[in-house]
Amino acid sequence: MDKSKHIVVVGGGFAGLYAARGLRRAPVRVTIVDRRNHHLFQPLLYQVATAALNPADIAAPIRAVFRHQRNADVVLAEVKRVDVARRAVVLDDGELSYDFLVLATGATHTYFGHDEWAARAPGLKSIEDALEIRRRVLYAFEAADREADDARRRAWLTFVVVGAGPTGVELAGALAEIARHALARDFRHIDPRTARVILVEGVDRVLPPFPADLSAKARAQLERLGVEIRVGARVTQIEEDGVVLGDERIAARTVIWAAGVAASPLGQSLAVPLDRAGRVIVGPCLAIPGHDEVIWVVTWRARSSNAFWAEVPRRSCIATKGCLRRSAALPQWPTFGAYTFPAFSPGCSGSRFTFSF
Ligand SMILES: Cc1cc2nc3c(=O)[nH]c(=O)nc-3n(C[C@H](O)[C@H](O)[C@H](O)COP(=O)(O)OP(=O)(O)OC[C@H]3O[C@@H](n4cnc5c(N)ncnc54)[C@H](O)[C@@H]3O)c2cc1C
Repeated sequence: MDKSKHIVVVGGGFAGLYAARGLRRAPVRVTIVDRRNHHLFQPLLYQVATAALNPADIAAPIRAVFRHQRNADVVLAEVKRVDVARRAVVLDDGELSYDFLVLATGATHTYFGHDEWAARAPGLKSIEDALEIRRRVLYAFEAADREADDARRRAWLTFVVVGAGPTGVELAGALAEIARHALARDFRHIDPRTARVILVEGVDRVLPPFPADLSAKARAQLERLGVEIRVGARVTQIEEDGVVLGDERIAARTVIWAAGVAASPLGQSLAVPLDRAGRVIVGPCLAIPGHDEVIWVVTWRARSSNAFWAEVPRRSCIATKGCLRRSAALPQWPTFGAYTFPAFSPGCSGSRFTFSF
């Protein structure tokens, strides 16, 4: 293999991080590009949003992760687009050429055409989002404590979470817990335990992608925590002081959006076919048809709440061993132990993250 081959990995999330780690013994140069200087453990964002954890507990500097990987360099920059013809990623302040490119830029929120709702109902994808939600939640209790008018106080003490996927379920549960337990005795003029946490879901059950029995268990647990669940209900309007669900209006000062994700916009710059959700269509080895040796688009997917697995290229491969073993990953985070990296997509070879040249 040619040592001078340059592999650019865009994105230092789970997918990009493990792709780059997987190349640690390969005789190539690896550059990890991310617009943030930290890798983020997204599954625990809701704990930051509800003041149970601090940002530093779930973020690790990407440079520190790759401190001992001699063939890896880290660049803090936003990738604006990919110039496929010239094999270059265009940054906000320059460009990087590549021989092989791994795009692992994750997903973003979507408000289903209602971008104006973003300011009223923040989503949860970044540390900044989590801190903003934390600020709003804690402020709502403070404002309620000082509010003399009953109806307005009720609105401050009503929290609506839109979307009952894993993020919405976790958030609603955590909000109910802080209202019922963490804050229960801290106020003189309100009883935080009377706060309403309403979880709204458009389809007929919580955790729609999960098996029905798990949905039912999650629902029962949420109800035990005091969360009100509205399934089969679609949000039609989000206002400064309330949410409209069809004919019903709920007065609520805090609304959190956990209802939809969209593909990374970077996919659009590839000028390749996208599906209806804007996702890049890849072959079985995650390469883009027509650019087999050049571009891979990877993401991590959740199969169950505690299992990640990577889909990796399947062709005859020059492998770097063991890259997805848990021990190779940020062992200083105890919570990481709950996540397993068991198998890869069917047909991919063994427990190896592989690159073919
Ligand atoms: C609140 C929450 C809870 C979750 N809980 C679970 C769970 O319990 N179990 C589970 O399996 N999954 C869970 N997930 C999903 C899981 O976190 C994601 O599937 C996973 O993080 C996706 O990893 P990724 O590497 O594909 O993308 P990301 O982790 O999103 O990483 C993408 C990276 O690319 C960078 N980037 C993006 N665009 C650019 C650009 N143009 N230029 C430079 N850099 C760029 C970003 O800064 C980011 O670092 C949860 C997600 C959230 C938000």
